Amino acid sequence: MASIDIQNVKKSFGHVHVLQDVELKIEDGEFVVLVGPSGCGKSTLLRMIAGLEEVTSGEIRIAGNRVNELHPKDRDIAMVFQSYALYPHMNVAGNMSYSLKLRKTAKDKIASVVGAAASKLGLDPLLERRPKALSGGQRQRVAMGRAIVRQPKAFLFDEPLSNLDARLREQMRAEIKKLHGDLKATSIYVTHDQIEAMTLADRIVAMYGGVVQQVGSPLELYDRPANLFVAGFIGSPG
Ligand code: ADP
Ligand code: MG
Repeated sequence: MASIDIQNVKKSFGHVHVLQDVELKIEDGEFVVLVGPSGCGKSTLLRMIAGLEEVTSGEIRIAGNRVNELHPKDRDIAMVFQSYALYPHMNVAGNMSYSLKLRKTAKDKIASVVGAAASKLGLDPLLERRPKALSGGQRQRVAMGRAIVRQPKAFLFDEPLSNLDARLREQMRAEIKKLHGDLKATSIYVTHDQIEAMTLADRIVAMYGGVVQQVGSPLELYDRPANLFVAGFIGSPG
């Protein structure tokens, strides 16, 4: 696990300023939910934290180390996306083992780590199946299993449930909450869903137009929204 320290980060693509002066310190083990309208820079921020995108200025530190100075293999950040990006030619066990095999983890260690993650996620009966034989919810569980087995320092979730129907979203939301309770891994979770934000977050970060508008507990944002954007997102619908 690790703290994530985002210091005065700016990001531009050419002339387009996508993020402005983002300052955010995320504690070890904290679950932070990032909300904001489409195009406000949420995915770009996650990609920079994961080291997949350069910052234009400022810096991002994971457990005190600058992300850009870490070798990709030492960054220890797991991302879970809305599109599951599973390997279609591998079964569930293969999908969950792959990153450990790449890191030359011993076979018996792989078996025990994958076994433990599979039972946490209710995937035991599905280990031999290929992704195409799984439901959307099951695929998303495999994507999470793949992230968990690496025992990363931090999890970055980019709208992981937005392709699922409402009932499944609710169920997965409860599972993510339980998993976080077990693993206590530092997490940043992007969502459009107000209920997900309110139920999962230790703190919510509300962004608009590449600028952080407010950071606080769900209750703080609910009781004292900093502006109309935050009120509109958090406040009672209608
Ligand atoms: P969000 O995830 O909040 O919907 P994004 O981070 O995906 O927003 O995008 C923020 C802005 O940056 C958008 O205007 C998008 O078009 C732009 N953008 C994202 N990636 C690139 C890129 N590689 N090149 C140019 N513009 C980009
Ligand atoms: Mg996005």
